[in-house]
Amino acid sequence: TRTLVWFRDDLRTADHPALYAACRYAEGDGTGDVVAVYVLDEVSDGVRPLGGAAKWWLHGALGSLRARLDELGVPLLLRTGDPARLIPHLAEQLGADRVQWTRRYGGPERRLDAHLKEQLRQHGVEVESFPGSLLHEPWTVETQTGGPYQVFTPFWRAVSARPQQDPLPVPTPCWEAKSTAASLAAAGVPRGELRDLDLRPTAPDWAGGLRRRWEPSEMAGQRQLEEFLRQKVTDYDDARDRPELDGTSGLSPYLRFGQLSPRQVWAAACEEAPEQADGFLSELGWREFCWHLLFHFPQMPQQNLKAQFDAYPWQSRAQQPEAFRAWARGETGFAWVDAGQRELWETGHMHNRVRMASASLLVKNLGIDWREGEAWFWDTLVDADAASNPANWQWVAGCGADAAPYFRIFNPERQLERFDPQRRYVRRWIPELDTADYPQPVVDLGVSRREALAHYESIKKR
Ligand code: FAD
Repeated sequence: TRTLVWFRDDLRTADHPALYAACRYAEGDGTGDVVAVYVLDEVSDGVRPLGGAAKWWLHGALGSLRARLDELGVPLLLRTGDPARLIPHLAEQLGADRVQWTRRYGGPERRLDAHLKEQLRQHGVEVESFPGSLLHEPWTVETQTGGPYQVFTPFWRAVSARPQQDPLPVPTPCWEAKSTAASLAAAGVPRGELRDLDLRPTAPDWAGGLRRRWEPSEMAGQRQLEEFLRQKVTDYDDARDRPELDGTSGLSPYLRFGQLSPRQVWAAACEEAPEQADGFLSELGWREFCWHLLFHFPQMPQQNLKAQFDAYPWQSRAQQPEAFRAWARGETGFAWVDAGQRELWETGHMHNRVRMASASLLVKNLGIDWREGEAWFWDTLVDADAASNPANWQWVAGCGADAAPYFRIFNPERQLERFDPQRRYVRRWIPELDTADYPQPVVDLGVSRREALAHYESIKKR
C-alpha cells in the first residue's frame, strides 16, 4: 500500500495523527510506504491566499519539514495550483491506495475537502481525515441548549475541563529510507522545488527583520516552547501586558502553521508548570474559541457577527487614504500604536496589547472599517490566521461574538502610561520619538470618540 499525506496547516512530524497513522499503516503492511504533498493553493473558490509575511514563513516551514520528512523516508512533493485537480491526479500517478489529511475548519476549506473526499472515493481511493489543529473538534463542543458557544468564559470552562490525550511521537517508519524517493524518481514524478513556489520577496527584499526575529522550523517551535515554560511562564500573568518585557510565548506562528499542535503545548505546560500555566493556557483557549466561532459562523472573515453593525458608517481605506497610510506605517503620532505598527512591519508580529489599541484607533477613532485593518494584518503578520484575525478584529470593533463593549474605546495615551511607563518599548521602535520629526496626532481622540459613540447609539436602536 501507498498512502499520500496531504499537508496543509499542519507542517510538523510530531503529534501528527494523519502522518502517524499513515506510517503505521505502511509498517503493518510490510511493503507499504508514505508520500507527502503540499499544494500552494491560490485558486480555490473562497480559500484566502496567504499574505506576504505568512508566505515568507511558509517557505522556511516547508524547507524544514522536507528535511525532517526526508529523514523518515517520506518524500515531500511540492505543487502549486488547484488541489481539487492536483490531489486526485497525484494519487493516481503515485498509485496511492489512501489519502489522509488533518482537518480544516474554515467554510471554503471544508467544502473543498468534502468534495475531494467524494471524488477520491469514487475512484476507489480510501480517504481519512484526522484531528490535529485544535484541542477539541468544534462540533463536539456545545452549550447546554445545543448550540455553539458565543461567549468565551463558559466555552473555556467546558473545554478546559475535558480530558486531553497525550501527543503522539514522531513516527518511526521501518521501510528503506531512500527507496520511496527513488521509486518516485524512476516513475518520473517530480519532487517540485521550493523556490518554484515563489514564496519569498525579492525586489524589494523586505524580509530582513523577519529573518532576524524568527526561525520558522518545527524544532525552533519546540525549543521556544521549552524555553518559555522554563523561563517565562511563571511571570506570564504579570508580564504578558508589558511589551518591553517580552513575556509572552511567541508561539503564535508555530501554532498557525501547525509546527506545534495545541495538544503539545497543553501537555508540555501541564507537565512543566501545572500550577502556573492557567493564564497562558486560557490564551490558547482564545485560539480555540476563534476557531469554534469560524466553524459555526463561516462568514466571520467578511461579515459583522452582530448584524446591526451593517449600518455603521465605517469608511473604506480608499475614502481615507492618508489616515490609513499613517496608521499602517506607524506615523499616527500616537507612540503606542506607531511602535506596534513598526514592530509589525519589521518582525511580522505585534504584541497583543498593542494589537488591541492599534485596531481600536483604526476602527473607532479613524472610523475605518475593521475589514481594512484585518486585511493589513493578514498581509503583514506571520501568525495571520483565518479565525483569530477576524475574530479579534470583530472583538475590538464591537461587532463580534463576546465582543468588547462598544463604549470601551482604547485610549493609546493611557495604554502607554499603563503598560510602558518608562517608554522602553516605544523608544525601541520610534527612534525619532522625542524630536520634531515625530508627527502630530492624526486625529483628536476626544472628538472622534464622541463621534464613534454617537454612531453606535444610532445603530443600537435598529
Ligand atoms: P501568548 O500570549 O504567548 O499566547 C499563547 C497563544 O495563545 C498564542 O500563540 C496564540 O496562539 C493564542 N492566543 C493568544 N491570544 C489570543 C487571542 N486574543 N486570540 C486568539 N488566540 C490567541 N493571533 C493569531 O494567532 N493570529 C492572528 O491573526 C491574530 N490576529 C489578531 C488581531 C487583533 C486585532 C488582535 C487584537 C489580536 C490578534 N491575535 C492573533 C491574537 C494575539 O494578539 C496573538 O495570538 C498573540 O499576540 C501572539 O503572541 P504570543 O504567541 O506571544 O501569545
